[in-house]
Amino acid sequence: MSNSVPAGLNPPQREAVLYLGGPCLVLAGAGSGKTRVITQKIAYLLQDCGYQGRNIVALTFTNKAAREMDERVKTLVERKLSKGLTISTFHALGVRLLREEARHAGLKPQFSILDADDAMGIVQELLATTDKGRLRAVQQTISLWKNALLDPDGAEKAAVTPSEFEAARVYRSYAATLAAYQAVDFDDLILVPARLLETNEEVRTRWQNRVRYLLVDEYQDTNVCQYRLVQLLTGDRAMFTAVGDDDQAIYAWRGATIENLARLPKDYPSLKLIKLEQNYRSVQRILAAANQVIERNPKLFEKKLWSDLAHGEPIVVTPMDSEEAEAEATAMKISASRFERQAQWKDYAILYRSNHQSRILEQALRNLKIPYTIAGGQSFFDKAEIRDVLAYLRLIANDEDDPAFIRAATTPKRGIGQATLQTLGQYAADRQLSLFAAVFEHGLETRLQARQLEQLRVFAEFIQRIQWRAGRGKAGEKPTSAEPAGVILDDLLAAIQYERHLYDTMEEKPAQSRWQNVLELTSWLKRKSEEDGLTLFELVQHVALVTMLERGEEETPDAVKMTTLHASKGLEYPHVYMVGVEEGLLPHMGKDEEEGDPAKAAESLASRIEEERRLMYVGITRAQRTLNLSWCKKRRRAREDLVREPSRFIEEMGLGDARFPEDEATRAMSPKERLDMLKALLKKN
Ligand code: ATP
Ligand code: MG
Repeated sequence: MSNSVPAGLNPPQREAVLYLGGPCLVLAGAGSGKTRVITQKIAYLLQDCGYQGRNIVALTFTNKAAREMDERVKTLVERKLSKGLTISTFHALGVRLLREEARHAGLKPQFSILDADDAMGIVQELLATTDKGRLRAVQQTISLWKNALLDPDGAEKAAVTPSEFEAARVYRSYAATLAAYQAVDFDDLILVPARLLETNEEVRTRWQNRVRYLLVDEYQDTNVCQYRLVQLLTGDRAMFTAVGDDDQAIYAWRGATIENLARLPKDYPSLKLIKLEQNYRSVQRILAAANQVIERNPKLFEKKLWSDLAHGEPIVVTPMDSEEAEAEATAMKISASRFERQAQWKDYAILYRSNHQSRILEQALRNLKIPYTIAGGQSFFDKAEIRDVLAYLRLIANDEDDPAFIRAATTPKRGIGQATLQTLGQYAADRQLSLFAAVFEHGLETRLQARQLEQLRVFAEFIQRIQWRAGRGKAGEKPTSAEPAGVILDDLLAAIQYERHLYDTMEEKPAQSRWQNVLELTSWLKRKSEEDGLTLFELVQHVALVTMLERGEEETPDAVKMTTLHASKGLEYPHVYMVGVEEGLLPHMGKDEEEGDPAKAAESLASRIEEERRLMYVGITRAQRTLNLSWCKKRRRAREDLVREPSRFIEEMGLGDARFPEDEATRAMSPKERLDMLKALLKKN
């Protein structure tokens, strides 16, 4: 036996790492070393138990978490031992499984992954409405059904209200449409593999033989479908370790269910349950505040959490006059604190409830020339120019992807108009073909004028030539040697004259910044294709995953981290600034509070507050050494100033007097004055 394992583990952690007698659940509060157990266990399996990398799969919640875990494992074991190891999100594993087993799932290996906008577009078409609220509601309902493993038949049976019946009807057509496009949506990336493993014994056996040990982080946020996938991958041997914290379950709105925690001991009577109670992350004060908040929630599992770190500095709560003032003060305080503590930018994080809060903070940070990165925003991949370029790539990879066809065929404008596309669409529907395939049909010639047809064919042939260069081969043939993705990308952009299109259709400044984004995308794609040896086809699917929760920021530069509370899960920062800690924002109150049955509404409100409280708990427990909260007395909403109250969660932290700790001398100064003072001091030295 080796001596590598026990280092840096307390007795229950060690027990969890060494336990290989069957399924194992580590249930523990924030910062107690659950993720550490996973990385150490991977090292143990590789180094001491003779497991091969390719037989171990570890699942995490975000790409970033997966990357961090991967790096940790690489520092623990020799590179050659970790070869073939899978550390990924559920979705990335789903893509891999689907790509390898595409045939069995009725897909081709280059199936498309639709983003939320495309999916929304399809739902919109099917519902024939532009009412955003209704569209979102239907899409959300379908998504929840998928996450609960229901197919259209199941959904129809489960539907009760008229709007659910409508959603079930849309679900059926939506599923058929996706199938016709050879496309899947995000939810399918889990659902389809789970189905496949369930129904196809050959596939199931293959994967169960491959996955000899499975580890799952953040288990509390899995949904029914993900749990099913875990069960199917591990089979009767049930060799897995799951770690989680019911107090950090924050994805119920996406179909995650804490039931999965409760079910585990029932489904696996031999389950080994291990609790961790020592927190290694936060100073006493922060931990105490976190514990006080979460105590108000009903308990699923009893847990104690203690820390033997120092008492720590007081937690600071600052009321602000407005969002602008809050953003400005936060930037100033960070700047001053970094200077005072001789810290680095990356020691700081700003946490907020909603993506839209980031813009004003960004502005304030930029004003002070503070470097920052944003996680959890979808901004980059949602940008029109990025989606334009990706539409081409998707179409090249999968010419049955009709949404990609329409976007690419019309951007930049090349004389293919709405009328032409409608005729084409009708023809394709009659003949049960993709738009792309329909372009080459003789039958189309009678329906379109020669000039319209010509334009379509020029476009489709252009795409075809790139497909060949990308190694697509003739239909049905295996891909042959491909040109490097980078070369193809450059040629593609030049051929469609995308840069010129930008300058033709908008002012110089926005055109310039959009072109910069495109260049950023292509250089990132090139790097990825070189580093990971991905073909253009694989790249396209890879990109779709990155869009899901975060943008693919690779290394950690020295920059302040801005992140939503949701995206901060599992991470830790020395100094945390939580902004907008006020009623209405945290707890968040959606406009569309459940109407109708008041009892149901009250229940949903109560459980919603509980989930928001867990989110607060997650936020507080990200902080290692200092924690600063702020809230705005007024906040601007649709050109109206709303009067705001501090979040109930602040009261619940039980800070007492500790919340007015700034000493008189510095409090009298504005943050700006204080910063200037500090800078002056620096110059003197
Ligand atoms: P979260 O619930 O937020 O995901 P977690 O339970 O996964 O937290 P980790 O991130 O694994 O906790 O650990 C928190 C911090 O404590 C990390 O910096 C980790 O390195 C450290 N840590 C964990 N276990 C020990 C230990 N036995 N000795 C020293 N430090 C530890
Ligand atoms: Mg963790």
